[in-house]
Amino acid sequence: TAKAIGPANFALFNHDHQSSARSRFRLESALRTAIESNQLDVFYQPIIDGSDHHIDTIEALVRWNHPENGWMSPIEFLDVARSAGLMYGLGAAVLRRVCEDWRRCQDEGTPLPVVSVNLSAEQVLAPRLPELVQALCSEYAMPPQALQFEVTEDAIQGDMDTVQSVLQALVDLGARLAIDDFGTGYSSLSRLKSLPVTRIKIDRSFVSGLPYDPDDRAIALSILGLARGLGLTVVAEGVELQEHETWLHERGCNYFQGYFYSRPVPLEDCLKLLQ
Ligand code: C2E
Ligand code: MG
Ligand code: MG
Ligand code: MG
Repeated sequence: TAKAIGPANFALFNHDHQSSARSRFRLESALRTAIESNQLDVFYQPIIDGSDHHIDTIEALVRWNHPENGWMSPIEFLDVARSAGLMYGLGAAVLRRVCEDWRRCQDEGTPLPVVSVNLSAEQVLAPRLPELVQALCSEYAMPPQALQFEVTEDAIQGDMDTVQSVLQALVDLGARLAIDDFGTGYSSLSRLKSLPVTRIKIDRSFVSGLPYDPDDRAIALSILGLARGLGLTVVAEGVELQEHETWLHERGCNYFQGYFYSRPVPLEDCLKLLQ
């Protein structure tokens, strides 16, 4: 029987392999086109100040409306971008869109709060990134103080001298720096200590079980304690319930982000939230 099914299996595997390589390639070229022709979208999600519930910051989150597949999750297409070497270009396209949006809102008399932009490992390892940010800021007459950058622990794993000088240069321009998804990645506290970070974002995997899960409580408390000791502000991600906010706020967490307040939304909807 092995002989009987062998060739069939082989043929099937081979066919699948070829067609998935083909569809991967098609996806890659569609993504490349989308990046180059400014077809990627950026949605915004508010980050709320717990003391008075005003919108403190908005996070820019990339979106892609694929011509055939429709809206694709960033998790999916960032993976494609990464393996195709498109991450720096994708990040640059997001930055340009953010600056464009910021300028348009400024001109229309509906100014945006600080915009928080996610940076990839590829960007953080690019010595030309600070120049790009500076060039975009002057092109759109946008003060770098209007920007915050978020890096995950995994995005800052590369060569420390490069990472440090790129992030320091962004902060020297006037932008703020936050650690994203804190507690989920590979990172040493000494690496964090040597970076000009002012905020950490508690990953939503530690927020979802609050206030009942004892492990989530212990982790959230220790992150809040660490942040207090280091003089950092804390954002809780993935806040979906009033009780998440209440528990965290009572323990010194100042900022909140999650579906409880708003999902990531197109700029026009974000402007309505800001009013
Ligand atoms: P992130 O930076 O941690 O962004 C937060 C993610 O959590 C977003 O997913 C957001 O939609 C989701 N989220 C927010 N509040 C809640 C909530 O209450 N519950 C749940 N279940 N989820 C919530 P999204 O937009 O799918 O982005 C996923 C990840 O993709 C981001 O995680 C970030 O790591 C990456 N990403 C998105 N845009 C960019 C970008 O422009 N550049 C780079 N390098 N990465 C990006
Ligand atoms: Mg983020
Ligand atoms: Mg995050
Ligand atoms: Mg996350």
